[in-house]
Amino acid sequence: MTNKELLNKTLTERFGHRPALFIRTYGCQQNVADSERIKGLLLECGCIECEDQEKADIILFNTCAVRGHAEDRVFGNIGRMKAVKAEDQNKIVIIGGCMVQQPHIADSIKKSYPYVDIIFNTNNISELPGRILDYISSGKRVLDPACEEYTLNEGIPAVRDSLRCRAYLPIMYGCDNFCSYCVVPLVRGRERSRRPEDILREFRECVDAGYKDIMLLGQNVNSYGKKDGSETEFPDLLRMLNDVEGDFVIRFMTSHPKNATKKLFDTIAECSKVSRHIHLPVQSGSDRILKLMNRHYTREQYMELIDYARKVIPGVFFTSDIIVGFPGETEQEYLETCSLIEEAQFYAIFSFIYSKREGTPAAVMPDSTPHEIKAERLNALNEIQRQVTEKLELGLIGTRQKALCTGLLGEGSYECRLNNNAEITVDGKGEVNQFKEIIVTDYRNRRLFGKEC
Ligand code: SAH
Ligand code: SF4
Repeated sequence: MTNKELLNKTLTERFGHRPALFIRTYGCQQNVADSERIKGLLLECGCIECEDQEKADIILFNTCAVRGHAEDRVFGNIGRMKAVKAEDQNKIVIIGGCMVQQPHIADSIKKSYPYVDIIFNTNNISELPGRILDYISSGKRVLDPACEEYTLNEGIPAVRDSLRCRAYLPIMYGCDNFCSYCVVPLVRGRERSRRPEDILREFRECVDAGYKDIMLLGQNVNSYGKKDGSETEFPDLLRMLNDVEGDFVIRFMTSHPKNATKKLFDTIAECSKVSRHIHLPVQSGSDRILKLMNRHYTREQYMELIDYARKVIPGVFFTSDIIVGFPGETEQEYLETCSLIEEAQFYAIFSFIYSKREGTPAAVMPDSTPHEIKAERLNALNEIQRQVTEKLELGLIGTRQKALCTGLLGEGSYECRLNNNAEITVDGKGEVNQFKEIIVTDYRNRRLFGKEC
């Protein structure tokens, strides 16, 4: 009997029926993609999906560690498991993902959260059935956050949310960049890339399943394959996927500026199915802070990249990530970030107050700026961005666009996503997951409106 068959039998005996599985995912798209594989594996072991945490037999949290706020939310929810286990000891509470892959967090779960039964490591999802079996057969909690090997989670089917129009497709795992503020390299291990043929196969599956918006995932897609000496670089991969037959948009995240090349932008320009939207996180507009962050580019180099891309890809939109209040960041350096936002004309930014992460180099850097000042700066920076966004959205009025319907809004209108990732409300009768040719007609209350051509 395989582990999967054994788990199926053991769980069905424990619950007296096929176990209902509830998964809650915190954090980034990579975590969503991991959860799709966790679900795929556990459904193969006989579980059935359950959307109601109260009714589930197995409750699984896939957690995030990127900022303290994400961890606080998880702890709040784990706390609620006390009542769940008190009512029914038979239920199984499982926690995996970046947060619990930090040894100090796993320790505090061991000590302070006795109602968590199993910890597992998403760098090796296939260990999960064995851990559940160990827990059931021994009756003891299984709480070692380490995994035997950091894998590519290959061969595990992803069960994607059928209500979502976008499919996430991991092309690589881990990170070798060690930005000084970031916990990701500590919890996701060293960078490793999937083979082009495995990506192509899964990509075709997504296209065949009807997905029209496919997002390639990696912490730094621009270094795809480099470490393994693969002949296929990221731009080559884009070209290969662009050649797949069908009508779809290819997106990718995240593109690290230090490895973004002219070849990347030239390739995007030549590939009609690759989105005219590039997420290129800059983090700061100050060269001194960028250096302390260990980002390996200057503001000038960053702007050169954007300028080149705008030359070869007409109409391309950029979005970015910004950290405000990195340790030692002065008012002047913060203002340099504000000026970069205006200069770069980002379509949108994801902006965060720096969050101290245990074990990272920045955690021991002196940081004397009070949180309230950082919060004020973040607000002011977001206001600058709001005005830039508004200007860019107004500039879309009158343009003809290919829009993907992502949801219906009742009588007579529907929601769409444009190629540049902008959301728009369109008059007419839409069908989810269909492309429409539209004209942007209006911008009201921070929202674009359009009509079918
Ligand atoms: N690999 C991606 C980022 C992944 S984390 C890249 O390099 O662009 C997503 C974003 O979270 C980062 O771009 C950064 O802006 C933010 N972030 C990461 N660590 C953070 C921290 N300690 N405090 C605040 N924001 C952080
Ligand atoms: Fe974190 Fe930097 Fe790696 Fe992105 S590239 S995951 S910010 S260490």
